[in-house]
Amino acid sequence: MTLSADLWEQSLWHATAEEPSPGSDAPLDATVLVIGGGFSGLSTALHLAERGVAVTLVEAKQIGFGASGRNGGQVIPGLKLDPSEMRARWGEAEGSRLAAFAGAAADRVFDLIDRHDIACGATRNGWIQGAHSALALKAVHARAKEWEAEGAPVEFYGAGSMAEATGTAAYVGGWRDLRAGLVNPLSYARGLARAARAAGVTIVTGSPVRAVRRSGQGWALDLDGESISGKTAVLATNAYDTALMPKLARSILPVQSTMLATEPLPGHIAGTILPQGACCSETRKLAFYYRMTPDGRFAIGGRGATGAEHSQALQDALEGGMRRMFPQLADVRVEHAWSGHLALTMDHLPHLHEPEPGLWTVAAYNGRGVAMATAMGAALAERIAEGTPLPLPETPIRPIAWHAVRGPVMDIGVRYYWMKDKLGFPS
Ligand SMILES: Cc1cc2nc3c(=O)[nH]c(=O)nc-3n(C[C@H](O)[C@H](O)[C@H](O)COP(=O)(O)OP(=O)(O)OC[C@H]3O[C@@H](n4cnc5c(N)ncnc54)[C@H](O)[C@@H]3O)c2cc1C
Repeated sequence: MTLSADLWEQSLWHATAEEPSPGSDAPLDATVLVIGGGFSGLSTALHLAERGVAVTLVEAKQIGFGASGRNGGQVIPGLKLDPSEMRARWGEAEGSRLAAFAGAAADRVFDLIDRHDIACGATRNGWIQGAHSALALKAVHARAKEWEAEGAPVEFYGAGSMAEATGTAAYVGGWRDLRAGLVNPLSYARGLARAARAAGVTIVTGSPVRAVRRSGQGWALDLDGESISGKTAVLATNAYDTALMPKLARSILPVQSTMLATEPLPGHIAGTILPQGACCSETRKLAFYYRMTPDGRFAIGGRGATGAEHSQALQDALEGGMRRMFPQLADVRVEHAWSGHLALTMDHLPHLHEPEPGLWTVAAYNGRGVAMATAMGAALAERIAEGTPLPLPETPIRPIAWHAVRGPVMDIGVRYYWMKDKLGFPS
């Protein structure tokens, strides 16, 4: 049995990251203790340190070991909700504030990359959302119009321009959001860690936190053989921990996503796929997402298994889907295959909780975490350091009633969504 976690070193990002792994500092007491070395934890730590706060970040394995080092590297602004849905839900003022925050999430990533000179192959040529049906096309063009009204640069595609923009005839149309871009996500995570350490953050890697507990007026983290204390603790372990706060773990649905990367493509094939340098994902609920890489490979991902085991069957299905959609890839070799775990929520929103004073959790970007985890970390840092209101309201932790049987329930959900996708419903 191959565990998804064990495939970390198989990823293309691990093989090609330009930023070196940051190694470990000795554990140190600090004002804020952050658990988890993904984008959420790193961004929180960096933005706190830039405000003069003493921070120690503790990562169980290595920086970027979780979803942050394994994802598609698509830096997409926005949430699953469109601006009108945000306003309907939170009112004109709060909804508009959230739309502005979510809409600027990719800007934050590229600003950080520029400011800290992070070597992560960053490009900013937009994200294309491909519509798999006429119904979905109507929905995404309405979404594009909404973001256009918010000031976003967007393009509208019919079937012909979509085929030219993507290199596949799989869609009836789509749109392109030019705020988006691409990174090597592991290199970006490592660059954030380098920037955080330069700003004064103590970065401890290879050290699982075994418990978070109250200690005097603050919090202590129990590591193997020692404890460290601080005034505030931030749990940013996303789908990679169930033990530290079981109630939190029961409020999110961990799901795997599998990725493949081909060998570098010959120029005449590479030039036919996403020639504008954009990335793409689909309107289907069980969607593919894909991109080209700086060294001319095609990298594609898709949603997958619910357990810890990497699914060879899903990997094979992903490869089959890739060759069906892009016949020009029929004979290319797949050189990298890996998977990782992301967190979903029932309301499709990221969740911020403060279950006890001074103990924060931030998680669950529903597959949109490169930009959003970076932005949420920055917002949480401002909240902790300066009391700035959060863009998304902090909520109580609400465990999912059927969490214990989530495997079979989610399998039924996959069949349901497969049917909806077939019928052309937008996600
Ligand atoms: C295959 C895949 C493809 C994806 N593609 C995209 C994409 O293209 N675009 C996009 O926007 N989003 C994408 N996502 C989602 C995105 O990667 C995540 O939303 C984001 O990385 C979450 O960051 P995080 O810091 O919250 O969590 P993670 O990056 O998962 O970090 C959690 C960290 O906590 C650590 N940890 C766990 N337990 C402990 C402990 N006890 N002590 C110390 N440390 C601990 C883990 O080792 C891990 O490093 C994808 C996800 C996957 C899996």
